[in-house]
Amino acid sequence: RNTAEKFQFQAEVSRLMDIIINSLYSNKDIFLRELISNASDALDKIRFLSLTDKEVLGEGENAKLDIQIKLDKENKILSIRDRGIGMTKEDLIKNLGTIAKSGTSAFVEKMQTSGDLNLIGQFGVGFYSVYLVADYVEVISKHNDDIQYVWESKADGAFAISEDTWNEPLGRGTEIRLHLREEAGEYLEESKLKDLVKKYSEFINFPIYLWASKEVDVEVPADEDESSDEDETSESSSSDEESESEKSEDEDSEDKPKTKKIKETTYEWELLNDVKAIWLRNPKEVTEEEYTKFYHSLAKDFGDEKPLAWSHFTAEGDVEFKAVLYVPPKAPHDLYESYYNANKANLKLYVRRVFISDEFDELLPKYLNFLMGLVDSDTLPLNVSREMLQQHSSLKTIKKKLIRKALDMIRKIADEDPDEANDKDKKDVENSSDDEKRGKYAKFWNEFGKSIKLGIIEDSVNRNRLAKLLRFETTLSDGKLTSLDQYISRMKSKQSDIFYITGPNKEQLEKSPFLERLKKKGYEVIFFTDPVDEYLMQYLMDYQDKKFQNVSKEGLKLGKDSKAKELKDSFKDLTKWWKSTLASENVDDVKISNRLADTPCVVVTSKYGWSANMERIMQAQTL
Ligand code: ADP
Ligand code: MG
Repeated sequence: RNTAEKFQFQAEVSRLMDIIINSLYSNKDIFLRELISNASDALDKIRFLSLTDKEVLGEGENAKLDIQIKLDKENKILSIRDRGIGMTKEDLIKNLGTIAKSGTSAFVEKMQTSGDLNLIGQFGVGFYSVYLVADYVEVISKHNDDIQYVWESKADGAFAISEDTWNEPLGRGTEIRLHLREEAGEYLEESKLKDLVKKYSEFINFPIYLWASKEVDVEVPADEDESSDEDETSESSSSDEESESEKSEDEDSEDKPKTKKIKETTYEWELLNDVKAIWLRNPKEVTEEEYTKFYHSLAKDFGDEKPLAWSHFTAEGDVEFKAVLYVPPKAPHDLYESYYNANKANLKLYVRRVFISDEFDELLPKYLNFLMGLVDSDTLPLNVSREMLQQHSSLKTIKKKLIRKALDMIRKIADEDPDEANDKDKKDVENSSDDEKRGKYAKFWNEFGKSIKLGIIEDSVNRNRLAKLLRFETTLSDGKLTSLDQYISRMKSKQSDIFYITGPNKEQLEKSPFLERLKKKGYEVIFFTDPVDEYLMQYLMDYQDKKFQNVSKEGLKLGKDSKAKELKDSFKDLTKWWKSTLASENVDDVKISNRLADTPCVVVTSKYGWSANMERIMQAQTL
């Protein structure tokens, strides 16, 4: 092809392709899911554009937003075609080879250790999974802004792009042609493809068709001579006129025409999926399995882990919408990495069934970005730009309701499957992994506890609701997680404050002299050992009318001590001397305290200053 222009794959992409080609990964099926998912994304994009500009769709066949799968057994080609947005020449160069996404190297790294190829879609490099089954791939694409091009590669480090002068014009969209490897012959079986689409692409919101064969009975003139029968059919199909004239001849003749039935294979587009969106259905009629599968398709995670919880609801009133929210079983690989620089929502926004965006930050606060799901609103306008939509007043209401529902859903995990669940029948589960032993909420806390803490810091409106979800260990919790409500229920009758201590880890805190007296008297003290806890406690002042008291800080009250005044007076000279000796830049005050049991003295932080632990954290950050 004389117009072909050659390009080298970006280095990381090349490595990724090598890994895929040489992979012994047995589940090669996943390529189809990735291709259909890309086709669906491309269709979403053109449909979104068409909201403000109808022209982009074109007319006739072009305007049909569907996905078509075709098999060419003879040439061992599987092709998948969509009428989506298509790719310009520049898009082809960038998207399929020269620009590595952030996920590329992350995925390569993952695959070199213990990675599961199944997760390829999550890393944004799903397209390359085609090389699990093909050794040569062509991507034919037509974008409204450009002419039709062919991208092709044998995964040998390079790809070529040519002006397409030989294929049929696509109108608009993309056709991916996989020249299947010898051992991938099963993907030429219709039944295999039907199964795969059912399995993986159930929730694609565009019709998926297969050019499927069908046996039909046809009547043909009976003829004693079988071989001439064949000749006749081929002749009659070559010219309509001729066959008609033959027919009339038959009718004219007095002899009764003898016919017989034979089976003939014809082809037609067979619809493979049911495009009724799960979120439009009545929650009572959706099974647990369906919710799980829908989660897997949203998350591009096709392992067998179930989401920890979900909530499917309809909001009515001024702002109407339907939503499905999920708590994933695991935090995504970069959840907290990008927390402060990127707002990566995992919520898809639909307006009246039309996909608008999955990068809509206005729907959920940052701290809930770990949730997955979608929102479909009838109240938001369809025919406005994304920028206009982002400022729409309904969004605030939607956000408020989503937060409320999300927190309810999380609280329910805690109510239904609390952390202690692991401890009953410990013997029975001794052989199972640590993870299985834990209650669901303990798992949740392990994965997303930090998000709840960030929520307490950021969301003053829901602070109390979030505080209810806090879990921690204490001097009395015996290695288990406990909650503020449980703490309060165990408080001593004279105790007015919730006691806590902060530090780098539990072991160190347990030895702290600040706890001596409290422990002796049987008071419970919370251990806060995460750096974020120091910030957290600057925002969490009280809970259920109980104040928080850092036991290493000034202000600790342990009930009335009748001897306090007496002691204070008798040691007055000592404390005075001590204070003047240490000088005021070292200490604010020297006091007789009732917080110690064995240790003679401790340095206590003032009420409003940083705790020693906070000093440690700040120092670590500035170094
Ligand atoms: P992702 O889908 O996560 O972005 P992929 O590796 O699956 O990653 O696809 C890479 C990019 O190639 C897509 O982001 C898209 O821009 C482009 N692309 C792939 N398939 C199609 C298609 N059928 N139509 C239009 N663009 C496509
Ligand atoms: Mg993709």
